[in-house]
Amino acid sequence: MNELVQRFLRYVTFDTQSNPADLGCPSTQGQMVFAEFLKQELIDMGLSNVSLDSNGYLMARLPSNVDYDVPAIGFIAHMDTAPDASGKDVKPQIIDDYQGGDIALGKGDEILSPIQYPELHKLHGHNLITTDGTTLLGADNKAGIAEILSAISELIANPDISHGDICVGFTPDEEIGRGANLFDVEKFGAKWAYTIDGGPVGELEFENFNATSADVICHGVNVHPGTAKGKMVNSMNIAAQFQMMMPADETPETTEGYEGFYHLKSAEMSVARSELGYIIRDFDREAQEQRKQFMVDKVAELNEKLEKGRVELILTDSYFNMKEQVEPFPHVIELAKQAMIACDVEPQIKPIRGGTDGARLSFMGLPCPNIFTGGYNFHGIHEFISIEGMEQAVKVIVTLAEKTALNYR
Ligand SMILES: [Zn+2]
Repeated sequence: MNELVQRFLRYVTFDTQSNPADLGCPSTQGQMVFAEFLKQELIDMGLSNVSLDSNGYLMARLPSNVDYDVPAIGFIAHMDTAPDASGKDVKPQIIDDYQGGDIALGKGDEILSPIQYPELHKLHGHNLITTDGTTLLGADNKAGIAEILSAISELIANPDISHGDICVGFTPDEEIGRGANLFDVEKFGAKWAYTIDGGPVGELEFENFNATSADVICHGVNVHPGTAKGKMVNSMNIAAQFQMMMPADETPETTEGYEGFYHLKSAEMSVARSELGYIIRDFDREAQEQRKQFMVDKVAELNEKLEKGRVELILTDSYFNMKEQVEPFPHVIELAKQAMIACDVEPQIKPIRGGTDGARLSFMGLPCPNIFTGGYNFHGIHEFISIEGMEQAVKVIVTLAEKTALNYR
C-alpha cells in the first residue's frame, strides 16, 4: 500500500471531533493528541521550525532548495472532524476498482449508492475509501494533512524539484468556526497559502459568502390565560408575524450558485420572550448590506404596528468574501490553475456557499484559496474519498511548489 494511503489510514484512527460547547482551544483533547503525533512526524521528516503551541496550532517549514529569492508559500489543513457525526473508532473500507452499483457499508445496514450520490458514476475504476456506516471518515480534513505531508516527502526525496520555502500549518477547531482565531500569520511566514480542504478533483475556491447573524428578539407579556384579555402579549405571535415578512424564495432551500439567502436556523419561544436566530448570506458585499437593511426595515415596520420596542434586532458580521483579499494577488490563483493543468486536472472554480478558515486568514493578511482533497459527502457516514483523487492532490501540491519557484527564477 502506498505511503499516502498508509498516512491517511493512520490519521483517521485518531478521534479529533471538535466540540462547539467547549470554549477551550483546542476544544477537545483528542486534537492535541493528534497534533503531538503529527509534530513527531514533522520532526522525523526533517522539517525545520517545527512548533506546536498550547492552542494546538502545529507549524513547520521545508527550507528552499534554490539559490534565488522565492516567496514562501503555505499549505494548511485542519486536524478536527465535524461535530455532526462521530469520528471515534473509524473503520475505513477500501473498495478496489469500483465498477458501479451500491457499496455496502460495514455489515450492510447502510449503503453508499449512486442513486443518492450520482458522483459515484464518474469514479468507475477508482479505488475508494469509505466508512463502515457508523462514523464519518475524516477525509475532511485528514486527507488534506496526508496529501500535504506526502507532497513534502516527495519534495524531500526529489531534490531536483525546485521549490522555495514551504510552510505547513495544521489547525484545530475549523469545523466549529474557530480554526483561524489563534493562527499566528507572522510566525507561519508564508506570503500566501492554500487550504487543502475541498471536495472533488479540480475544485479551486477563492470566493465565499459574506456572513452575518441576525437575532430577532420579541418581547411579550405573560399573564394567566384565564385573565389575559387585553393584557397578554404573546411574543410567539410577534415572532411568527416577523418570519412571515421575510422573503420565502430567498432561503437555503430555494437558492444555489451565486444567490444569497436569509435562513431562520433556530427559534426559542415562550409567551414572554421569543428569539429567532437568522443567518444572512450573500457573495456581494453591497447586496449583503441591503439584506441587513431589509431586516432593520422590517423590524421598524413591525414595531410601528405593535407597541414600540416589542422587537429588537442584533446584527453581527461573522466573516466576509475572501475574493476581495485574493484578487489583488492574481498569481495566487494563476499558479494554482497552472499547477492543476500541468497535472491534467481541469480547474473547477466555484463559489463556496459557506465560509472557510482560508477566508478568515485572507482577511488576516494571508491570501488563502482552497484546493480539492478528492473527498465527497463530508460530515456524515456517507463520506468517502478516491485514492486516485488524493494522488492528484499530492501532484498538484508538488507542482504548485515547483511552479512558484520557477516563476521567480
Ligand atoms: Zn474541512
